[in-house]
Amino acid sequence: MRAVDHEAPVYLHQLPVPGEDRYVCLALVNTRFTVSHGRVDLLDDAEAAHLWLVRHALLPDRVDLGARQSGRLRALREALRALFEARTAGTRPPADALEGLNTALAAAPATPQLAWTADGPRRADVPDTGNPAAAALSLLAEDAVDLLTGVDVEQLTECAAQGCARWFLRSHGARRWCTTKCGNRVRAARAYARKAGSP
Ligand SMILES: [Zn+2]
Repeated sequence: MRAVDHEAPVYLHQLPVPGEDRYVCLALVNTRFTVSHGRVDLLDDAEAAHLWLVRHALLPDRVDLGARQSGRLRALREALRALFEARTAGTRPPADALEGLNTALAAAPATPQLAWTADGPRRADVPDTGNPAAAALSLLAEDAVDLLTGVDVEQLTECAAQGCARWFLRSHGARRWCTTKCGNRVRAARAYARKAGSP
């Protein structure tokens, strides 16, 4: 009996996908992906969604997350995916995706503040503590606005491995796979196809 199965999605989530360290919205989009043994959803219930938000320092551990709130998080994820797809395809996104992001932004926006530290002035946004779950969604939506409207969006790419569905920021122009694991999977499939096709 393999006791590691339960841990597998968490382990896979730890694979470094370039850009997730800088944009938590990318990490959110990448909570749904496909590996060789099937589809993985790291937010498939309220408990899993709670764990994900806590791990990404978006929600205090003591705050409960209901089924409706975790549903909103999954809906925001799908809206972001549609917006990423529209941006890279050069098309307009579906109206409900744009509306979904703007609703999340408006639900519990952080209050911008100017902090003054030993290093001088810096911006320090204060999250809405009265509504922590909505504040987490607002932060994720704001992060997506930063990504979509900044220079990094030129590097935004969907992994070319079939069914992978993860998004990453290309470190160089030619990169097409989110991780070496995906690259290896594609190369192995190609080698297999060549072998199968040869007489
Ligand atoms: Zn991939």
